[in-house]
Amino acid sequence: MSDWSDIQGHIQIKQDLRQLLAEKRLPHALLFTGMEGIGKKLTAQVLAKALFCGGENAPCGECVSCKAFAAGNHPDFYYLEPEGKAKNIKIEQIRQMQSQIALSPYLADKRVVVIDGAEYMNEAAANSLLKTLEEPTGDVVFILVTANKDMLLPTILSRCMKIYFAPLGENEIAAIAKRQDNIDDAKARMIARLSGGSMSKALSFVDEESLKLNDSVWEFVFAAVTAEYIWRLSDELAAMDREKVMQWAGFLQMIVRDLLLIKAGADDSLLYNGNKKEELDDLAARFSIGRLLYCQELGENLALRLKSNADVKLMVQDFMLKWREPK
Ligand SMILES: [Zn+2]
Repeated sequence: MSDWSDIQGHIQIKQDLRQLLAEKRLPHALLFTGMEGIGKKLTAQVLAKALFCGGENAPCGECVSCKAFAAGNHPDFYYLEPEGKAKNIKIEQIRQMQSQIALSPYLADKRVVVIDGAEYMNEAAANSLLKTLEEPTGDVVFILVTANKDMLLPTILSRCMKIYFAPLGENEIAAIAKRQDNIDDAKARMIARLSGGSMSKALSFVDEESLKLNDSVWEFVFAAVTAEYIWRLSDELAAMDREKVMQWAGFLQMIVRDLLLIKAGADDSLLYNGNKKEELDDLAARFSIGRLLYCQELGENLALRLKSNADVKLMVQDFMLKWREPK
């Protein structure tokens, strides 16, 4: 596992890192920035593995170092992430790491420290790390990973070579999504469009629960939305994580957009739910453009309000009551 080829997209970054590696010009502190779930941590791991390997096509996957790394017990690799309820990186964690890396490496000729979620270092921890970054001990490479670099101390930022990971393209995400058993082409494309460029977000759409959510949305758009139905569904949704309710709203918005596209005579390949063309046509015949535009507005409103702290059940009920009033 974990080789350069496992990293989706980011072609330029991979090329640059491998070149720096080959020319032994890799700085001792790097900062990987970019949104959640697009491969920053994986890239940090592959880079660490390659640094330890030192072979020509590193990581070779065959040497003692590579094997130890793949087994998750390379003695010269140090991984740090936020801990505890408060979800931060404390000074004790940094100190522990510092005392470890003060020892000479066991297996490779250097140590690699990955700090994932580096923005969660509290100030004491960050200042302590800063001292280590300012006095580099030649044989340690630091890779800081963050989705929010503006939360890091400027002094830390200035010590690191910054590498920005752009969101993944739809094709890249669709390709990964399709590796899942239950995902066909059409679904993979739909997931890719929903993900906004984040692989981890895309994968959250693939789980059983999300697929059930999608079914629930399809049931909703065809249902006779009675008061009873509204109470039941709003109860169900209110019992879920807010994240999931947002997904539900997202699926609904996709259907409404598809319907508008059909009304506009757009090509089927543009549809999110191209695999449900018959159902879409059926719905398109029932909804006027005016009503669809109104539904779209309602959906957008709901998505927006779900980001606030307001009560989910009330919001959802309000939405459904308005949805069923023909406009
Ligand atoms: Zn190797």
